[in-house]
Amino acid sequence: MIELRDDMTAFESVNYFFHKAAQAAELDQQTCEVLSGTYREIRVQIPLRMDDGTVNTVYGYRVQHNGARGPYKGGVRYHPAANLDEVRALASLMTWKTAIVDIPFGGAKGGIQVDIGELSQSELERLTRRFMSQVSYIVGPHRDIMAPDMNTNAQTMAWMMDAYGQSKGHTPAIVTGKPVPLGGSLGRDAATGRGCVIVLNELVRDLGKRPDGLTVAVQGFGNVGSWAARLAAEEGYRVVAVSDVRGAVYNEKGLDIEVLLGHAREAGSVADAPDTETMDGDAILELDVDVLMPAALGEVITKSNADRIRAPLIVEAANHPVTPVADEMLRDRGTTILPDILANAGGVTVSYFEWTQNIQQFSWDEEQVNAELHKRMSNAYQQVRDYAQAHDVDLRQAGFALAVDRVADAAHLRGYV
Ligand code: GLU
Repeated sequence: MIELRDDMTAFESVNYFFHKAAQAAELDQQTCEVLSGTYREIRVQIPLRMDDGTVNTVYGYRVQHNGARGPYKGGVRYHPAANLDEVRALASLMTWKTAIVDIPFGGAKGGIQVDIGELSQSELERLTRRFMSQVSYIVGPHRDIMAPDMNTNAQTMAWMMDAYGQSKGHTPAIVTGKPVPLGGSLGRDAATGRGCVIVLNELVRDLGKRPDGLTVAVQGFGNVGSWAARLAAEEGYRVVAVSDVRGAVYNEKGLDIEVLLGHAREAGSVADAPDTETMDGDAILELDVDVLMPAALGEVITKSNADRIRAPLIVEAANHPVTPVADEMLRDRGTTILPDILANAGGVTVSYFEWTQNIQQFSWDEEQVNAELHKRMSNAYQQVRDYAQAHDVDLRQAGFALAVDRVADAAHLRGYV
């Protein structure tokens, strides 16, 4: 058991949650050791030729956490703060996430420590192609499948697929989250945000409430935050506040998300969008709303602000937005948290649908994708909720317990441990 501390690293934090669930489930010591470590980690040096001819050396990581249930699966983020510990944490979250929604994958994650704001499109393309070729010997459509994450998108995946295909032949199933004309799945772009809203709806229904009029604040307006805000508004929630790295906007009557999207596309930020009041970016987490959705970086709710969080419901659209100490503080105050490994599992779920479509060389229409996503997310929510009720634990511990049980079972059946 890891001791609860303020200054835990991201990987220690995820393992804190893991150990808590493993201990309650009386998982044996050997299995605990295997599941709390990573299978393989690589760091690659990427000498990046800049447009002006100079070379910048950056570093990239790929961590494969556990493959008992299937090929390693997870995104790649480009971020100045990406480091090995964070990538390990995110890789392990993928193992638990894929197990909760019961898709036949393990968990992995990648990261390149770089500020994309400083790169041109052609520098970004060279970086991506080189990273793919450097990790190509540990990935494969039945080995490890990458996908978008923070600051990566369908275009990044297109370059990766192309770089891989140059040496291995056309292999669309090597990455998911591709552009639709290259074998991407309809509905993948919206999937993470849609999954968040599906599980939120389930929780709201269980609480005997209706979405209409419930106020929502969304921190982050990238792929996940913007889709979550848009779909929540469509369901009748009143999205009153949204933020991105450059600013935060508020409208008590509810923001027009389409207008925000248009403004952000042109101005590069939601800041100063029409019909909005400007607010402090950090204050968005502390707003008096019914639902708070952190949809940006990890570790935004910590010991230092947890006692100021007023929303009774938190949907973890981002990975690891709440530290373990803050998690305890919020639980003591009666806050309900839909944990990341459940709430944001919609993205990897539709990645699974994309992968199966690629392998079968057959494509589904968007209606089918969304219906299957709905089924998987609702089932996962109900299983987690039932476990939480039966064992009198919170949704995070229930999610970890279910996931750990599935992964341990697969590891035992394979004879790993
Ligand atoms: N990066 C997303 C996540 O954190 C999606 C991963 C995937 O589709 O493989 O879940």
